[in-house]
Amino acid sequence: MIQFTDVSKEYTPGQPVVSGINLQINDGEFFVLIGPSGSGKTTTLKMINRLIPLTSGWIEVNGKPISDFNLQELRWNMGYVLQQIALFPNMTVEENILVVPEMKKWPKEKMRERVTELLTTVGLDPEQYRNREISALSGGEQQRIGVIRALAADPDIILMDEPFSALDPISRHQLRKDVTELQRKLQKTIVFVTHDMQEAIQLGDRICLMNHGKIEQIGTPQEILEQPKNDFVREFLQTGLPNYKEAVKIRHLVEAGFSQEATSGSSPILSMEESVETLVQLLSQRPIVSIQGAGEVTQQGLLAYLAQEGLEVAQ
Ligand code: ADP
Repeated sequence: MIQFTDVSKEYTPGQPVVSGINLQINDGEFFVLIGPSGSGKTTTLKMINRLIPLTSGWIEVNGKPISDFNLQELRWNMGYVLQQIALFPNMTVEENILVVPEMKKWPKEKMRERVTELLTTVGLDPEQYRNREISALSGGEQQRIGVIRALAADPDIILMDEPFSALDPISRHQLRKDVTELQRKLQKTIVFVTHDMQEAIQLGDRICLMNHGKIEQIGTPQEILEQPKNDFVREFLQTGLPNYKEAVKIRHLVEAGFSQEATSGSSPILSMEESVETLVQLLSQRPIVSIQGAGEVTQQGLLAYLAQEGLEVAQ
């Protein structure tokens, strides 16, 4: 359990960027910190593993103030995933995953097994990926390694700071599914920063909405959607939940010329009246989808369409 009691942070004396934070994050909970840029989400997250020292108040992990932990012990027992893919590009997948287990001096055999297990969990064939250099992987694959690296030494708590925001929509969708799956299986406590309400609703057991360094509302996605506490929460929900997802249909993509003649021979599984969002979901699981009366759409075709339309889209 992570407990914040009256936590404040001032980078410049007298100018709090986070103030009076009281919250409790339960074991095994997927807890999302959300809010506009500059609202204090990252600062709040980084105070948990002491990357940023707090100015006043207390943070406790399992009833013990974080200041009482040996710093190394605290960090090793908290996985950390960043927006920028922070892997070592010239090291292999295996070497990257094993950074913390190596420091903890795990036996060789245990480390090898751990890599096999983790790669398998996120659908990457261990024998194919283990010895590849990071620089030979796609952005989505790299971030998948980033996520499992955070899990490698089996920490109870994982901190994630906008881990998917630099990815294309298909990889982002895939990674969200992976993380949901991992969470269900492993029951880790995850603290997750995002500015994306869709993401928060999809992933969070509870959501904490921040504004100007303070908490506006904490609740389950349903509570926040159904009982927004004030105008700020209501407005944030509106800006955060664009309705283009219903509006943009596969027909638009086809008419804009981003489908191609059918070559894969698979039977059509979507009609042109279905949403592009549905297509994004399917194309995160397979390379090509056939459309009734309109040939087929590839992952590349979809990405090109989304890029052209400037859709920050269909997540
Ligand atoms: P968010 O993650 O919600 O975008 P941050 O926690 O990164 O917000 O930042 C909160 C506020 O603190 C912002 O106004 C930001 O400019 C300020 N801030 C963040 N880091 C520093 C720093 N190292 N020094 C001074 N001010 C900072």
